[in-house]
Amino acid sequence: TSNVLAGFGTTIFEVMSKLAIEHQAINLGQGFPDQDGPADIRAVAAREGEEGPNQYPPMMGVPELRQAVAEHDSRFYGLSVNWQTDVLVTSGATESLAASMLGLINPGDEVVLFEPLYDCYLPMIKLAGGIPKFVRLDPPNWEIDESKLRAAFSDKTKLILMNSPMNPTGKVFSREELELIAELAIKHDTYAICDEVYEHIVFGDRKHLSLLTLPGMGERTARIASAGKTFSLTGWKVGYLTATAELTSRIAKAHQFLTFTTAPNLQKAVAYGLAKEDAFYEDLKNSMQSKRDRFRDGLQRIGFTTADCDGTYFINADISSIGFDGTDEEFCRLITTEAGVAAVPFSAFYQSEGARTNFARFCFCKRDEVLDAAIEKLQDFF
Ligand code: PMP
Ligand code: GLN
Repeated sequence: TSNVLAGFGTTIFEVMSKLAIEHQAINLGQGFPDQDGPADIRAVAAREGEEGPNQYPPMMGVPELRQAVAEHDSRFYGLSVNWQTDVLVTSGATESLAASMLGLINPGDEVVLFEPLYDCYLPMIKLAGGIPKFVRLDPPNWEIDESKLRAAFSDKTKLILMNSPMNPTGKVFSREELELIAELAIKHDTYAICDEVYEHIVFGDRKHLSLLTLPGMGERTARIASAGKTFSLTGWKVGYLTATAELTSRIAKAHQFLTFTTAPNLQKAVAYGLAKEDAFYEDLKNSMQSKRDRFRDGLQRIGFTTADCDGTYFINADISSIGFDGTDEEFCRLITTEAGVAAVPFSAFYQSEGARTNFARFCFCKRDEVLDAAIEKLQDFF
């Protein structure tokens, strides 16, 4: 194992999914929907696969998908995107993230990022030789401490990596918070990589704002999204990135040596999907919101306090609120093996010492009857 990767174990998502399967537990750990996305999108993939060609598509992505991404970004964010130069298709958002780190960071460069953080961020930064500078967000509102964020930036900062709507907190960054990030990125002349895979899964009157749209940020920001989340097709691993031509080409330089390209029939099907009518996007949001409400109410009936959740697939339950005094890891193992419900321990998303990690992350993008069954099992156990 390389020295960098020796410091990391098996990803928590795999660990908890395996444990869930072993114990036949309802898997509310790893984030994936239990119903596949729209049948018409899957039919396009089947037809395109049948008709072909099934050979290497262009390195930047099939024209149909790049055009659809440009159209999507104009429709939802008012962005003016040149599909030929400003869009890159990758194998999942994960590859966009990896290509961004490998394409932009030099060994010794500092990278500002928020904790809790999504599992692949830190290893990717380290593989690229970057030095992480963490800014911790704490429950229940996950607010940014302005002075801590200011202090994390220096003249060595190469980029800030952020995620909104944010996994695992369910936080949606406000305009003020994005303005503060923009001010610091501009002041220190850094890049910003914004992971927006949950852009269409935002609740109530909260609205997703892309950092890319803020004044002065267009030239330095790459926005990353994923068909996995928007179309409930997480196994397809089709992601896309929008940035200026210059920034896109720097990132594409790494992409060409990582995967080079992504399955053409899936790309065409996602292009078809992105053009779906507003009602599709409304339904996605409303359905996820009602699942959040249903599951949150269930947790609260059992006696759990839950942290705020304005977006994503995830809600966090405070395990101390029902008098559990072990670690979150013990809690998640216990409920998986004994109650028959799997969750992810929040501590898996923190690196620094002293964080409050008495939370279990539950994934609620499941059929209502599955959510109800999980609540019933937890209720019986506690
Ligand atoms: N970023 C975040 C915040 C995620 O939660 C996920 C996956 N769930 C990804 C990136 C990876 O997306 P993809 O599956 O498209 O690679
Ligand atoms: N993003 C998903 C989660 O947070 C998992 C993706 C994966 O398993 N790599 O649960």
